[in-house]
Amino acid sequence: MRKPIIAGNWKMNKTASEAVSLINELKPLVADADADVVVCPPAADLAAAAQALKGSNIGLGAQNLDYHDSGAFTGEVSADMLLDLGVQYVIIGHSERREYYAETDETVNLKVKKALEKGLIPIVCVGEKLEERESGVTAEVVRKQTKLALLGLAESEVAKVVIAYEPIWAIGTGKTATADDANDTIKEIRAAIREVFGGAADEVRIQYGGSMNPKNASELMAMSDIDGGLIGGASLKAEDFSKVVNY
Ligand code: PEP
Repeated sequence: MRKPIIAGNWKMNKTASEAVSLINELKPLVADADADVVVCPPAADLAAAAQALKGSNIGLGAQNLDYHDSGAFTGEVSADMLLDLGVQYVIIGHSERREYYAETDETVNLKVKKALEKGLIPIVCVGEKLEERESGVTAEVVRKQTKLALLGLAESEVAKVVIAYEPIWAIGTGKTATADDANDTIKEIRAAIREVFGGAADEVRIQYGGSMNPKNASELMAMSDIDGGLIGGASLKAEDFSKVVNY
């Protein structure tokens, strides 16, 4: 009922010409994918990436946006700028941005609202730190992050959002949540959405992210509530990413 969505978060990797090469390698490998496939190159690569992706089944995502429309916000990128380049998705509230660039639940919410208002699909990241998992508050943490990220949205808007559940301790570490743990936490996220937005919870696609790779993708994707993956490291090689896409 929910179409799987596999997105690659390239983070601050690949120049524009390297992005084009990676996309050209990837295109034939994922051409028959059953899932929605998205790549999220760095902002500086988006124009070249959009060109390279033309005519393919791969969507284009950015890794961030500003919540203002325009103005004196040095270094930032607006929703209109992304749309003008052909961007369709935008990652919001990645744990690296929360940790290194002072993103808060409040700015995440403003960005989600701006993305939806402009017609971009937000991929909203939530996830617990290691100490939160160890002290047994994972469900509370992700429920709160999710509700704050979606605060003030209409049910019809929420249905369009993609959530990425990314346990912070699993990102880039080679450690993966077990498929059961990931599924249980994703069920908590869906339940939190249902409490506020009712039936939209059944439409929201919720990805798992955190060292997802060709070896663990099929087990994770077989779970009832996991609707896709947000892939970091393994999205930087066409072969690895295509194996995740074709899990
Ligand atoms: C990420 O940064 O979103 C991510 C999931 O990274 P990795 O796959 O490398 O753990």
